[in-house]
Amino acid sequence: MSDRAEIFINGRFEAGDGAAERVMNPASGELIASMGTASDAQVDRAVLAAEAAFPSWALLSARERSHALLRIAERIEAHAAGFADLEALNCGKPHRYVLGGEVPNVVDVFRFFAGAARTMPGAPAGEYRNSRHTSMLRRDPVGVVASIAPWNYPLLMASWKIAPAIAAGNTVVIKPSEHTPLSLLKLAEIFADVLPPGVVNVVTGNGATVGHRLVSHPAVRMISLTGDVGTGQKILAAAAGTMKRTHLELGGKAPVIVFDDADLSGLIETLKEASFYNAGQDCTAACHIYAAAPIYDRLVSDLSAAIAKLPYGDPHDPRAEFGPLITARQRDRVAGFVDRARAGGAEVVTGGRPAARAGFFYEPTLIAAEPDSEIVRKEVFGPVVSITPFRDEAQVVEWANASPYGLASSIWTRNLGRATALSSALRYGVTWVNTHGVFATEMPHGGMRQSGYGSDLSMTGLTEYTQVRHVMFAHSR
Ligand code: NAD
Repeated sequence: MSDRAEIFINGRFEAGDGAAERVMNPASGELIASMGTASDAQVDRAVLAAEAAFPSWALLSARERSHALLRIAERIEAHAAGFADLEALNCGKPHRYVLGGEVPNVVDVFRFFAGAARTMPGAPAGEYRNSRHTSMLRRDPVGVVASIAPWNYPLLMASWKIAPAIAAGNTVVIKPSEHTPLSLLKLAEIFADVLPPGVVNVVTGNGATVGHRLVSHPAVRMISLTGDVGTGQKILAAAAGTMKRTHLELGGKAPVIVFDDADLSGLIETLKEASFYNAGQDCTAACHIYAAAPIYDRLVSDLSAAIAKLPYGDPHDPRAEFGPLITARQRDRVAGFVDRARAGGAEVVTGGRPAARAGFFYEPTLIAAEPDSEIVRKEVFGPVVSITPFRDEAQVVEWANASPYGLASSIWTRNLGRATALSSALRYGVTWVNTHGVFATEMPHGGMRQSGYGSDLSMTGLTEYTQVRHVMFAHSR
């Protein structure tokens, strides 16, 4: 093994021959490391290693692949503290929440897909055409999967991509975000011990060079991205030439629809986490509230009081509920949205400034804004919540469904009939009723409209990484 472990190809670590990338600590603004990234030749070798590993990995029994995933889960669990240290350092997330929440979720994802691999769903073999022909349905792996991960949950998003792909018998080349490569490289140490060489490969580097080279490689058969809408569009263009399958989990702008019979204190308690966890850098973050006119003033006042008191700070500060934005650029992008909203006449009820301290922090913010304004329509991806009053159900459904995004939404009411009707009318991949941001590994997660398509998690998330095939036997020959 190289003493510089920046790239993981065919079961071995090596130094990156490409341009160096600066990896920062967002909570202090200091440099953690300057790391080499993958050269074109290294990206190509990683894809070829995955291609070479594919036939024998695909032919293993589901039981054998399942056992490998269970071993990975066990090893992650045993090294949970080390993973939490890296996510806290590289993302600025509160350490206790990574250790108590994100890492256990990563373990659960590998355990779930270990079991799922053994229970692939589909129609039974049988005589469908007539009694002289027997049909059999197969679900085969697709081949080499290029996975592109974002920086907001580096380890968790990597697990959402790697676990179902390898459980189904594919091999993977994964690229973490250039901002957050550390936890995935630690995960690769486990892959080095548990998986045959080439089943999972890791190439680091930025999107325009390393990412583009990877997704354009002709031996890649499927691309799985979690990232921005613009990146999804570039990936679709790169996939077109060789007709690769694509799986796109893109941005979101979750509407939170609050009726006048809602439990407002329960809502406010939930929003402290659902809106501000990970400094709002979450595609499902509860970031825009539509409040029924009769409770609008009260909600603005109670919510702003709660938000103003929300503690944020360093990853190891036991009081901190959230940390910094990932980069200075992301903090400035968030500040730009708020400044433009303010200049356009929106009321910044609380917060609204970069925090006066080292690191890339931004104050938790509440803005009262018009429904067609930029801050309501666009994904801010920061600790910023906007709020608008609505008149009636028809108006709020129309506003919510007019969003270019369609990932997550929530409805807050004690009226079960209204909640049922509205959850049917909303065009979002997930709708929560009287809660927000709660995930179950068994349930699918994915978007509509420009939030992309394809599900992560659940049995659907597994079958996304398979190709359905029909084999028919004629009895007479
Ligand atoms: P991003 O699109 O900037 O980067 C995501 C990844 O794509 C990175 O690894 C990046 O290097 C890579 N990339 C960029 N350009 C590329 C190209 N041309 N070819 C190949 N790869 C390329 O997104 P981000 O800023 O890291 O993450 C934030 C975004 O991700 C937000 O929009 C957020 O909503 C979205 N997100 C969505 C989900 C979901 O499940 N829908 C989950 C988390 C984050």
